[in-house]
Amino acid sequence: MKRTVVALLGALVIFALLSRAATPISVMILDGESGGAYHDWQRVTPALKKMLDETGLFATTVVTTPPANGDFSSFMPAFSKFQVVVLNYDAPDERWPAALKTSFEQYVKNGGGLVPVHAADNAFPNWQAFNEMVGVGGWRGRRDQAGPYWFFKDGKLASDTSAGPAGSHGRRVPFQVTVRDSSHPIMKGLPARWMHQGDELYARLRGPGRNMTVLATAFSDPQNNGSGRDEPQLMVLSYGKGRVFHTTLGHDLNALSSVDFVVTFQRGTEWAATGQVTQKVPTNFPTATTVSYRTDLAAMDPRFADGLDSLTARPAR
Ligand code: ZN
Repeated sequence: MKRTVVALLGALVIFALLSRAATPISVMILDGESGGAYHDWQRVTPALKKMLDETGLFATTVVTTPPANGDFSSFMPAFSKFQVVVLNYDAPDERWPAALKTSFEQYVKNGGGLVPVHAADNAFPNWQAFNEMVGVGGWRGRRDQAGPYWFFKDGKLASDTSAGPAGSHGRRVPFQVTVRDSSHPIMKGLPARWMHQGDELYARLRGPGRNMTVLATAFSDPQNNGSGRDEPQLMVLSYGKGRVFHTTLGHDLNALSSVDFVVTFQRGTEWAATGQVTQKVPTNFPTATTVSYRTDLAAMDPRFADGLDSLTARPAR
């Protein structure tokens, strides 16, 4: 009798473990608007979804907002049904009704994960809670009132309250990324430095920078419209009980195809949802001197047929 109970309990434990491992992390990719045609959100979302799908860890649903001139009065996604929301979205303050903003704030405050990608940190410049979630942002009129500039100096996070606009980048070129917190679950096992494929290097971002840990920076070269500072590229934040992984990388499919983008996005999304990272670092991760990108992702942009580097020759915004 005793033995049967033990065997039953054992079977139950195994079943619980198995079903836990088999339950995918529920992800919402939210899209529907960007600051302009240069941020081709319609093409970016399928690439982000592919990256999540291929891990086998996530069940991803794409939620697209009404168009900019559409009716938002009945747009109310069930945020709380998801463990993490990936933002491939950039809209002005007035786009979301107050009730939608409140619902989103409650979702993150109550422990929902959030992953703003690239220009998602341009959105909602005067929505205080949103700015606290992303930590730093740029453009859309952000200036001194947004908070100080944040950057790395002498191995530490530093800030500067000088007056000035928020957000800049130079021409899209490959650049080196430097890890600033190798112990964080997202960064464990990554090289101390690596090359990122041609992308906009976001600089001069401003924001509250509260509850923010910078995981990786990149030097913003003054010869390429840069700040001369080590600028935050990957960061984690907490907002209430919610975890945020903010990546400034990923302007377009050219940039998203960089293996370091893929890996940090996959790991960062898992961490924002669960607080843990179970994924291994692939062997094709870029090194300190050599970029590594995935042609299967880059080729999701038809311009890839013209060659990868032709995209970086366009004038900077
Ligand atoms: Zn961009």
